[in-house]
Amino acid sequence: MKTGSKRSGVPEHSGHDYEKLLARWKSLTQRIGWKCSILSEESALPVLVIQNEAAAEARGGGHYLSAGVHGDECAPVWGLLEWAEAHLANMKSSPVVIFPCLNPYGLIKNTRRDGQGIDLNRSFQDSRIPLVAKWQEFLSGRSFDVAVNLHEDYDTAGIYLYELARSAPTGDFHLSACEEIIPRETADVVDGSDFENGLLRRDTSEEEMQRIVEEELDGWPEAIYLYLNHVRDSFTFETPSERGLEKRIATHRRFLEAVLGA
Ligand SMILES: [Zn+2]
Repeated sequence: MKTGSKRSGVPEHSGHDYEKLLARWKSLTQRIGWKCSILSEESALPVLVIQNEAAAEARGGGHYLSAGVHGDECAPVWGLLEWAEAHLANMKSSPVVIFPCLNPYGLIKNTRRDGQGIDLNRSFQDSRIPLVAKWQEFLSGRSFDVAVNLHEDYDTAGIYLYELARSAPTGDFHLSACEEIIPRETADVVDGSDFENGLLRRDTSEEEMQRIVEEELDGWPEAIYLYLNHVRDSFTFETPSERGLEKRIATHRRFLEAVLGA
């Protein structure tokens, strides 16, 4: 990814400043009284998990939100933070769990993989990885209505969405909410899969999902692991990382607003 935001104005911060990201999350969670814990330490960097009281009581339902699994995709972590700074204080009744940045080493180094060279987004089944073991332990016994995983793609020019859902389709509506900031990807094939108007919706059987993971992906992405174990519906949203940083951040924020209704 190239952090190209020169055309739309120099951003106020580096997209890869993890200390600043942590400081803003800590300040926000202190202000609104949400629980902010260290899930694990990876490459001597804390990986945070944030939740409201409803989630800490593990009532089930609500939302799971995550960003920063791939460190060379920096807009999602800031989009998630900006959305949270604007809306989190109002989200008390329904459980919300947030992983603000699952790969801080990658974010700082602007690289897809973690400090051990692992692509975490093909490894969420692998409990030999300490971070994954802690993540699985945290999620044990929990279930959510909706998961949102935020990513970027340097090969595309528009936004696109993977919708894995047991509920009625809503992905097209969510994309519509974002396309005035960055238009939809027009390619019919994205990253080897068939898309229509920026959307790939799958409501296939669990056996079929398992086959896709084993035969096509060579490992478990966060979204598919969640879909088969912890969530009813899963959205993986992607922005084109060659576009200006500020627009990409705004698009991730808008996507979250569309999905969560705020
Ligand atoms: Zn990614």
